Amino acid sequence: MPMPFGPIQVNSNLFQRVFFDAQRCRCGGRLRDREEHVVRRREATIRQVYATCRKCRRPVLFEFDVSLLARRGDDARRFLGTVTRYLDGLSAFKRSDFDTAEARLLAALDPRTGEPNLSAAHYYLGRVAASTGRPEEAVQRFRRAALLQPMELAYHEALLAAYRAAGQLDAALAELAELEDVRLRLGG
Ligand SMILES: [Zn+2]
Repeated sequence: MPMPFGPIQVNSNLFQRVFFDAQRCRCGGRLRDREEHVVRRREATIRQVYATCRKCRRPVLFEFDVSLLARRGDDARRFLGTVTRYLDGLSAFKRSDFDTAEARLLAALDPRTGEPNLSAAHYYLGRVAASTGRPEEAVQRFRRAALLQPMELAYHEALLAAYRAAGQLDAALAELAELEDVRLRLGG
């Protein structure tokens, strides 16, 4: 599985665990982490995690940018604060308070005080954008969510609908194929 894009910034060990546990191999199998190495790359501290698929045994490499975490130490409370902001955003979304939802979800994704790669927060920001007549922005958010968690069906379904709403029909067709592929791999 290729890396979605560069090293993934994580600001707490808890978030790295949550992120890793949500990943699936392209075959649909769950992953087991085997080894972790820390390397320095220019100014950044990178944590490399070697994993293997429990089902097909394929090796998978993740790279996490832990520069911020390394500088100020791990703090579980920081991640719990991020989760709280995310859940506030989610409940605001569910009562159609889109302004509050957007503010809380953006706060959860703050690159310094939150977790910028919390895929569910990108997903719900996409839902907010789709609900408030901003289909292009919804596309960007769902794309980011699907890049971060490529085997999550809900993200692909949302992205397909957003491409259609934005009138990006070529992209919608490609996404339809991707969605079917993921669905088959997950055995659905
Ligand atoms: Zn596999």
